Amino acid sequence: MFKGVLIEKDESGYHAALKDLDDSVLMDGDTRLSVAYSTLNYKDALAISGKAPVVRKFPMIPGIDLAGTVISCSSGKFKAGDEVLLNGFGVGEAHCGGLAQQAQLNSEWLIALPKGLTAKQAMAIGTAGYTAMLCVMALQKHGVKPGNGEILVTGANGGVGSYAIAILAKLGYSVVAATGRMAEAGYLTALGASDIIDRHTLSEPGKPLAKERWAGVVDSVGSHTLVNACASTKYGGIVAACGLAQGMDLPGTVAPFILRGVTLAGIDSVMRPLQDRIEAWEKLATLLDAGTLENIATEIGLSQVCDTAQQLLEGKVRGRIVVNVNQL
Ligand code: NAP
Repeated sequence: MFKGVLIEKDESGYHAALKDLDDSVLMDGDTRLSVAYSTLNYKDALAISGKAPVVRKFPMIPGIDLAGTVISCSSGKFKAGDEVLLNGFGVGEAHCGGLAQQAQLNSEWLIALPKGLTAKQAMAIGTAGYTAMLCVMALQKHGVKPGNGEILVTGANGGVGSYAIAILAKLGYSVVAATGRMAEAGYLTALGASDIIDRHTLSEPGKPLAKERWAGVVDSVGSHTLVNACASTKYGGIVAACGLAQGMDLPGTVAPFILRGVTLAGIDSVMRPLQDRIEAWEKLATLLDAGTLENIATEIGLSQVCDTAQQLLEGKVRGRIVVNVNQL
């Protein structure tokens, strides 16, 4: 027996709760893991609450991230005792995930824990930090350099936003954080933001083209915010879009793309090829120090997961939640 969060759906409704589980709930996979830490992402909160159709099979253990130790691996890719991590690949959606003390997964989805990071630190970063890194890599591959101008980060107090600020600042970029929580300005400045703007200046319908300000953008918000960010991106700049915290819609015009050559780069972390994952995690292990991780992440136990998911959806969580699955 082991403990884990289980989501069930039946005639009486949709339920998520901490339960005693056995192997029968786990799905096929060539690798058995003892999970050490998981995380709570926006997507996990949607899965746990049932507010969006994230879960595609029931019963389901949520948790799109995990870090732990290999117990057995029949593919030969890993050996017992290896420390590994996983982000995405449909885990926590269609295959039982990380918010439990045991997991059974495909070794193709796992990468070795990067040198220099503990399992807890890797999960303090989790999909949020890994996605922020993918966004920054998109800006770098486009040729955006620190001297080119300011970088806008939206959803600044969230997991992706917090890590995007910390990574960009560490790389020498001048970062402007857009937030609805101006009271958290001290936190955002400590992460490395050089300016903070109220998110309401971006979240309402705007003009097709606005004054050129951003050399690049990391957007985890979508909707009018993404459209306005594109409209104020400098000629030839790039907007990396990874989220939908404001909305999934894109109510804009093609003007920034056809008149200013702005690039809109879609960032998906879930099905990203292993090579890019390894590159992103190696960079994260180098760029983020222990103090930054402690500043961004808050640790909770398994029994706090369902309540914290609700707070996350209400926009009350700052930074990132790391879950110690062996603590209740
Ligand atoms: P999070 O921790 O909940 O952060 C989201 C942030 O967005 C909030 O902290 C808030 O920041 C801002 N926000 C919330 N509601 C808003 C609204 N109505 N209008 C404008 N801003 C709003 O979530 P996360 O884990 O960082 O994820 C952020 C988004 O990225 C989610 O949509 C998630 O699904 C997506 N995501 C996508 C991928 C991918 O592979 N593409 C990977 C990870 C995450 P302030 O309080 O500072 O305003």
